Amino acid sequence: MGRRASADEVAVVEGQLGRYPRGIVAVGARCVCGNPLAVVTRPLLPGGTPFPTTCYLTAPEAVKTISQLEADGRMADWNARLATDADLRAAYRRAHQTYLAFRSALAERLGDDESHIEGISAGGMPVRVKCLHALTAQSLVMGPGVNPIGDRALEEVRNRFDPAVCRCAQPWGSVRIMQG
Ligand SMILES: [Zn+2]
Repeated sequence: MGRRASADEVAVVEGQLGRYPRGIVAVGARCVCGNPLAVVTRPLLPGGTPFPTTCYLTAPEAVKTISQLEADGRMADWNARLATDADLRAAYRRAHQTYLAFRSALAERLGDDESHIEGISAGGMPVRVKCLHALTAQSLVMGPGVNPIGDRALEEVRNRFDPAVCRCAQPWGSVRIMQG
């Protein structure tokens, strides 16, 4: 994970989410244009709210595309695959463990208490698929080969959403110009 989110990045993420991104640590993944796609959020939000979803999808284009995938019933398909495919199940459990290790390192660095979210990752891991947004966010932040379900989701939507192909309604440069 890179440097702390800049004021410009926080402003863009606030516009993407329609609310201030409380507890944002850094932009975890970017579109090729530079726009934030997913953010890394601290394990304990200011005010003391435990927050397990460390990797959070923010780009509206990505959120919408992944929502369509969920509406198409892909979560049921992948839950069925998890039930029958031992290799997929093992890889998915490793993704869960990697998620927890990533968050623990962050908690240690920031001095955040994780006791209320101990063992809890995101997206339904380690045994269920419940939120493709969370799983996709992990794949975007940590790269391919970490979360097999997030990777599959990104693969399926590649002709509609791809970090390497800017389809942003407001690419990074245009947003900065608009902000003056
Ligand atoms: Zn873009």
